[in-house]
Amino acid sequence: MDFPPLREELRGLQPYGAPQLDVPVQLNVNENPYGPSPAVVADIATAVAEAAGVLNRYPDREFTELRSALAAYLSRDTPHGISPAQVWAANGSNEVMLQLLQAFGGPGRCALSFAPTYSMYPEYARDTMTDWVQGRREDDFSLDLDAARALVEERRPSVVLLPSPNNPTGTALPPEAVSALCEAVGDEGVLVVDEAYGEFRRTGTPSALELLPQHRNLVVSRTMSKAFALAGARLGYLAASPEICDAIRVVRLPYHLSAVTQAVALAALRHAPELLGRVDDLRAERDATVAWLRERGHTVADSDANFALFGTFPDRHAVWQGLLARGVLIREVGPEGWLRVSIGTAEEMTAFKQALVEVMEEAG
Ligand code: PMP
Repeated sequence: MDFPPLREELRGLQPYGAPQLDVPVQLNVNENPYGPSPAVVADIATAVAEAAGVLNRYPDREFTELRSALAAYLSRDTPHGISPAQVWAANGSNEVMLQLLQAFGGPGRCALSFAPTYSMYPEYARDTMTDWVQGRREDDFSLDLDAARALVEERRPSVVLLPSPNNPTGTALPPEAVSALCEAVGDEGVLVVDEAYGEFRRTGTPSALELLPQHRNLVVSRTMSKAFALAGARLGYLAASPEICDAIRVVRLPYHLSAVTQAVALAALRHAPELLGRVDDLRAERDATVAWLRERGHTVADSDANFALFGTFPDRHAVWQGLLARGVLIREVGPEGWLRVSIGTAEEMTAFKQALVEVMEEAG
């Protein structure tokens, strides 16, 4: 018997995660490059100090105030509004989605997504002993809706995970596709539209939040880690029918959101306009980066997110390594031959472009 006595299917596996390297230009995990202003830092610090005074007590298990604040924030993205009973939150949207799998997946059930997509999805399934079914995206990374519907009808998944925009491709989903797949899934499952990058959508693509009144099996997952510039706080959340939120309460650990987390998130939400203030700049920088990469002859996936997937390289690792040697860290992820760059500040993107030109010239 090997020690430690890990579950058979976990033996030899590496923990998921991008390399955390200390380099000048970090464009590898789709963070917002702009940190909070001194005024926001001061307000967060005051809120944390208040929470610290009562840390001998457990936090509000139902995070009532935070749920209301998140509902108010989400209501800006849908004419139908979102009530606090429709909101759930956890330590990052990774934990939100793991809880969804804990509640709705499990042995004898399956979860479904379409590759290439976010590589944590199969891990949520594995960790909850849920079968994993992987459909394919088209060559341009869009979904063939008829094929997707046929796969749902054949496999009857309990959970469908559909990121929009998708990671690592940046592809957004049209609302018609979300509606058609919600109908195909029916009451036997839940369909999760993972909008981790939702705030970066190009104008014209509505949020799946607008579809909530039509589909009681629809879940829209969001995070404060990306557009909201709060990755370090670990706060993800979702909007869904109150029945779905209630069901998750059965599997969540008691007091899973610490008093400090709740205080930080509430203080940050009070400063939403400032924290989100650079989203337009990042979208413009994204569009400029995509255009520049195309001018240089690279193939680039259309992106509605704060990153771009580009390629294809016969030896992508060599390109990644060449950039790293020049102090620019991007991500080796996605289909073979492609690389993903997160959108940083204008200065960081200039450094990326210069380094890429040099690496390509060196490669001849
Ligand atoms: N969904 C997608 C598509 C992501 O890319 C990420 C993070 N890279 C997450 C969810 C999870 O983010 P967090 O746990 O920080 O909310």
